[in-house]
Amino acid sequence: MEMHEATLEERRQFYSEEWNKRELPDFILHTLSLREFGFDLDGTGPSHRYNQFMTVEQLAEYLQNRAPYSVFASVALYEQPSMRKGWMKSELALDIDAKDLPLKSCGCASGSVCERCIDEARRVAMEFAETMSKDLGLRNINFVYSGRGFHIRVIDDAIMTLEQTERGQIVEYITGGVIPTDVTMALGYSKVFRERLARTFERLGEEHLSKTRGLRKSVVQKLMAEKERVLGVIRGGKLDEISTLGGLGPKTFRQLLEFLVRLNSGFTDGKVTIDTKRILRLPSSLHSGVSMKCVLVRDMERFKLEDAVPKFVRERGH
Ligand SMILES: [Zn+2]
Repeated sequence: MEMHEATLEERRQFYSEEWNKRELPDFILHTLSLREFGFDLDGTGPSHRYNQFMTVEQLAEYLQNRAPYSVFASVALYEQPSMRKGWMKSELALDIDAKDLPLKSCGCASGSVCERCIDEARRVAMEFAETMSKDLGLRNINFVYSGRGFHIRVIDDAIMTLEQTERGQIVEYITGGVIPTDVTMALGYSKVFRERLARTFERLGEEHLSKTRGLRKSVVQKLMAEKERVLGVIRGGKLDEISTLGGLGPKTFRQLLEFLVRLNSGFTDGKVTIDTKRILRLPSSLHSGVSMKCVLVRDMERFKLEDAVPKFVRERGH
């Protein structure tokens, strides 16, 4: 699969022939006039902010006339979106970008994507959503394929009025992005934290681990050789046994834990989640950088990249 940049001609074709308002998710359609729209008109960045559309027809007309490079809408609802004033509430959003995954099993460089790392991003998104639903009781969780990864957009009433700090705590919990304070308690580490830590450790290679400050080469090799046992210890919550397995002192063990936790938090961009005035790529629009459609995904298990390929790419004949 090759991902080319779309030409102006292709963007025009997309917005005049293919774009369909029925591909807008209901949660956006029903709140359209309360959202701030942002545009990147020519590929230089989303500098056209503070736009408001009272009807979907107005939006359609704008898209056909301007054939923008990128289209974004706010996660927030405002009384006056065209002034970004009168903030009412905001979705809880997570951005899992395949190009920024901290550990990739594919060979593609950081900053680029392939089908394999997009699939990894898909699985990470599903893990996060499962935790939000099981542990946090959230029900209205929507997935969007963004063109190079996935957005999770949660619109449960209970979370839409949360402040930044609380959103930050949610993202830390979901990703296993902080060492829990229950570490000294007999109960051990929380289940989510252990699962995320194990997931990260499982994907680690010697080359990653050797970047941990204070970790000697012999220790790295020992931890890698004993990977299965270390994973068992992490899943079982008896993390201090890692010290025994690898022969680590308490300080080195802490450094190892901090290294893993930093990787954990890299699976999503926490800045997106805490920013209650963020604009996100509009589902139904074109990601011109890769010539893919940004689409609402109803069934993540069955999502295929073909679902997001615009007509003009299929007509390119490869
Ligand atoms: Zn890749």
